[in-house]
Amino acid sequence: MTTNTKENFGELLLDKKIVTALTDMGFEEPSPIQRETIPFVLEGNDVIGQAQTGTGKTAAFGIPIIQNIADSRHIQALIMTPTRELAIQVAEEVGKIGRTSRIKALPVYGGQPIDRQIRALKSGVQIVIGTPGRLLDHLHRGTIKLDGIRFLVVDEADEMLDMGFIEDMEEIMKNLPVERQTLLFSATMPRPILSLTKKYMKAPKVVAIHKEVVTAPSVDQFYYETKDKVDGLSRLLDVEINGKLIIFCRTKKGVDELVIALGTRGYLAEGLHGDLSQNQRDRVMKKFRAGRVDILIATDVAARGLDIENITHVVNFDIPQDPESYVHRIGRTGRAGNKGVALTFITPREFRQLKLIERAVNIKIIRRQLPTDANVLEKQREIIVSKLQSVLDQNNYGEYLSIISTLTKDYSVEDVAAAAVKLMQEGSKALEISSETRVMPSDFTNTGARPGMVRMFMNIGRSQKITVKDIIQTIAIEADIPGKVIGTINIYDKFTFVEIPEDVAEKVLAVMHKNTIKGYKVNVEPARARD
Ligand code: AMP
Repeated sequence: MTTNTKENFGELLLDKKIVTALTDMGFEEPSPIQRETIPFVLEGNDVIGQAQTGTGKTAAFGIPIIQNIADSRHIQALIMTPTRELAIQVAEEVGKIGRTSRIKALPVYGGQPIDRQIRALKSGVQIVIGTPGRLLDHLHRGTIKLDGIRFLVVDEADEMLDMGFIEDMEEIMKNLPVERQTLLFSATMPRPILSLTKKYMKAPKVVAIHKEVVTAPSVDQFYYETKDKVDGLSRLLDVEINGKLIIFCRTKKGVDELVIALGTRGYLAEGLHGDLSQNQRDRVMKKFRAGRVDILIATDVAARGLDIENITHVVNFDIPQDPESYVHRIGRTGRAGNKGVALTFITPREFRQLKLIERAVNIKIIRRQLPTDANVLEKQREIIVSKLQSVLDQNNYGEYLSIISTLTKDYSVEDVAAAAVKLMQEGSKALEISSETRVMPSDFTNTGARPGMVRMFMNIGRSQKITVKDIIQTIAIEADIPGKVIGTINIYDKFTFVEIPEDVAEKVLAVMHKNTIKGYKVNVEPARARD
């Protein structure tokens, strides 16, 4: 398996500084559009790229431009975008790539006071990103000079055409130095754009990445459009997804962040990416295969070559960068005649990339609405009802009946039952308020722990340099239990899960409440159930 960013991006003959920046951004390997575009640009060619948001096109032009920026503070690259949102987004991405090379990128767009932009331009930036109207404004004022420009990027050219910017684009292109490289990206090639390329580009290399690919027919495919993907995913985990799933993220950083985001929401997930040692990978895979965690979050690189059975759902938390990778990802479910489901999240801007995948794979990915608050509530009600039914069926709650008869002297049976359900739902949070009451072990169910064990959540982790030994020692001493009875411990950056035997769970919770580990104050509470 190739997981080393250096080797992969290194193959493209990039400066060490840029490779470091890409590693910091969590990129593991170049995307297909980057693999093809970067060498062409580094060799001095003009490039026409048929690519949309979601393919990694920004870095495809950003990386080679930054590699070619001279050590001087004048403007050397101009990037035209159709909207201010895209200008800001591109400036952020290019800024990150250029961070280690100390290259500055500035977005300029209408709606922002021009004085502020002029001051920023004077402070010395090498790359300017803007909408055509505002760029022209600066050209006319002389606050952006074109004579030092060696790169022009036209991003989302067809959208610029749709928005009526064609004349502004041409005016800018006309006034640029002839000795320059032009890179033009567009999802489609309408005639006016084609004629611009003929007039203003020199023997451009064409890069397109959509080959026909076949898909696994037994996978149902849906997509969700949302700006808050973590919230959307949580809703799906609460209401719809019930099984073993792989969630794909674009970057290592994305994987780590999602493990934490889900962890703090009470979902137990493990991450898999190229920064893990072989040992760590093996441990994660063992747990996932054994069903001790049922959410695996991975990058494409890390998931390559993994053979896992019975995956019920594949979630594309980030849209894949090309159709082949989509097919690879979703092919991990729906195996051996089982039905699989593939769910893809997109942001509004990524709609085109989704459509491109649909076309290349020749399948309809159906739009779906995320579960509403009402759906989530309804599902919770169903779970409560079925939990209560199973306790009632077991008929082993006699010891609690005396509590109920005491209360029913003053309250109706319905009120007492409803209060008990509330207590069960709110768990330790409600109980923390009244310090005399303690959580009974029977409150801990279905939290991913092994039989006879309960899982607890602690708000400290690797960031506090907490080790497994620290946790075992503190709990064993404080609760006066043998360290060896403590089960699996998962330490994450900001939190930790610990398995404790059911019969001492109450004690551990009591003694660890507001206690400290290695001088850090800890908050310990039962891990929330996934369902
Ligand atoms: P774009 O198509 O340029 O809008 O990029 C879409 C997203 O992909 C952005 O969040 C980028 O940071 C990310 N991205 C670009 N290249 C890579 C790569 N090689 N590996 C992982 N993520 C990437």
